[in-house]
Amino acid sequence: MAKRFLKIAHLFPELLNLYGDSGNIITLARRLEWRGLACTIQEVALDDTPSFADVDLVFIGGGSDREQEIVARKLQTHKRDLQAFVEDGGCLLAVCGGYQLLGHYYQLGEDKGKGRDMKRAGRGESMEGPGEKVEGLSLVDLYTDRGNPRLIGNIIVESDLTSTPVVGYENHGGRTHLGSGVEPFGRVVYGFGNDGTSGFEGVRYKNVLGTYIHGPLLPKNPGIADWALAAALERKYGLASKIDDEASNDAVLLEPLDDSVELLANEVMRERLLSGRVKER
Ligand code: GLN
Repeated sequence: MAKRFLKIAHLFPELLNLYGDSGNIITLARRLEWRGLACTIQEVALDDTPSFADVDLVFIGGGSDREQEIVARKLQTHKRDLQAFVEDGGCLLAVCGGYQLLGHYYQLGEDKGKGRDMKRAGRGESMEGPGEKVEGLSLVDLYTDRGNPRLIGNIIVESDLTSTPVVGYENHGGRTHLGSGVEPFGRVVYGFGNDGTSGFEGVRYKNVLGTYIHGPLLPKNPGIADWALAAALERKYGLASKIDDEASNDAVLLEPLDDSVELLANEVMRERLLSGRVKER
């Protein structure tokens, strides 16, 4: 069989890359490489006109309100292509600001312009009036309203996608509300999640995963990285491309890796948080 490979599109890394989000791309690439698989990474810049026809996995990171507004306008030009990609089972991972833009809109509040986002805005870009509605892609049935205070801190989430709880970091002013027909990514064990009250975190729809979890997400949560890679490989090559795993005697899309270091990092973080040894703000 020819060497399987994936084409990964990383949208607007120069603007959407908070808290190491681009590290997720490195994790995806390494986990393919360690298995003898390959990938190409297409960094999509603001003025590019990419085609998503041969893309297997799309990643969008997080950003400040100001950066989201810039990107949101551009994303509208890719809306149809991205909709077709998602409806065809394309795998799309989106973190925080990127996650919010998957929905119908991000309604900014009256406090817009104060605090951290304002500090970031002092680079010559003018801020628009308060209460602006940032139009999303409507790829997934959800919407986000800006709230106060920001929801900041470490987070643990239990998700059906992986047997190990997911750990990471969140920092968002937005409160995200899910519509019918979509599921949350998981249940909050520690931290805030979508809105700080529902107990839900993130969204899942087809092969789309949206989440508030930075950290970056994938290095300490290898089960999520492999869920995304397996979804993309299955769409591209089909289940017939499964290989025999000698250890388990099962046919698998992805050969298991030794994740002991990654899982130890995950466990240490969970232990720290649940034992109350990390002081939250
Ligand atoms: N600007 C958005 C918010 O504050 C997203 C922030 C982020 O990506 N961390 O809710």
